[in-house]
Amino acid sequence: MGIINYVEIGKDNDGIKGELLEAIEKILVSGKFILGEETKKFEENIARLIKTKYAVGVNSGTDALFLSMKALGIGKGDEVIVPANSFISSATTVALTGATPVFIDVRENYLIDEGKIGSLITEKTKAIMPVDFTGKPCNMSKILEMAKKKGLFLIEDCAQAVLAKWGNKPVGSFGVGCFSLHPIKNLGACGDGGIITTNDGELYDQLIQLRNIGLKNRNEADILGYNSRLDTLQAAILNVKLKYLAGATEKRRRNALTYYNLLKEKKIREVKYVPHDEKNEFSVYSLFTIQAEKRDKLMVYLKDKGIETAIYYPIPIHKQKCFEYLKAQSLPNAELQAKMILSLPIHAHVSEKNIQFICDEISNFYKN
Ligand SMILES: *Cc1c(COP(=O)(O)O)cnc(C)c1O
Repeated sequence: MGIINYVEIGKDNDGIKGELLEAIEKILVSGKFILGEETKKFEENIARLIKTKYAVGVNSGTDALFLSMKALGIGKGDEVIVPANSFISSATTVALTGATPVFIDVRENYLIDEGKIGSLITEKTKAIMPVDFTGKPCNMSKILEMAKKKGLFLIEDCAQAVLAKWGNKPVGSFGVGCFSLHPIKNLGACGDGGIITTNDGELYDQLIQLRNIGLKNRNEADILGYNSRLDTLQAAILNVKLKYLAGATEKRRRNALTYYNLLKEKKIREVKYVPHDEKNEFSVYSLFTIQAEKRDKLMVYLKDKGIETAIYYPIPIHKQKCFEYLKAQSLPNAELQAKMILSLPIHAHVSEKNIQFICDEISNFYKN
């Protein structure tokens, strides 16, 4: 069967190499590498796609989160509620503003357990940060209702979820949307990149200055800013890649359904969770993450059969050394999941045959 790689970014790019090189060449000879037309065009494309008034390109998903919180005035003395099983920068960005991340446990499907938000809210709470982990949309109806009731900002970490929808609304359009364009994400640049979506004109103006050293025009700065612009070359590349995103997303969704049906059919007792869309959810399956017993052994067994898998993430954030100072309470679901999660190859180059083979091998592992 050959090796089934976990990611195939190079193959993706190879398929559209001509178009990508043409876009890069245009920037090279224009000599305009900072902001400019292509960045603006990409921002407009994203705003249209996510159905927000504005989008601001920045240099990473991490900066999208950090700058959003800075623009909202979040800082020392404030608390932000963050799920414990995300990429670490969901929480480090909170801490770097001077605020305190308050970790919340997750449901079986990896998403913030909205039922637990209420008990974590204090007079210091300023925002909730739902993470659309694995490309699955959080329950935005409930989270938004809670945020409105308590007067909290909603910072959506949709780093893994470009095009995901809750109901008919794209994630990133409920609060402030923070997307990553890191190569491994479902809309990936050829380097770092990020983008923020919002309907708030004032916030937009703040973000435009914050990402560009605080400058409101060529020579004047009213606020202290950062250098965090989306690179023009990356924007040009992303404008090309954007054309293929809907197709690639459909392929991922089809692959996910194939996995789901096959794994359900096999009724493997040791496989405790298999992702699928539930009511109101339109997932984009950046990751296809099952929960399985003897995960580490299964991973080695699959590797032996030529199937590469990955773990996102083996250490829950509240267990990271950098957050030891918070003395966070234990979060049973996030901690249990860290031991059981395994992400299977789901990219566009995985064939139905590959999926059949992978599911057969998972089944064989538990029979032995
Ligand atoms: C990737 C990711 C980030 C950070 O994005 P970068 O572009 O790598 O800085 C933040 N949150 C989540 C959930 C992510 O998956």
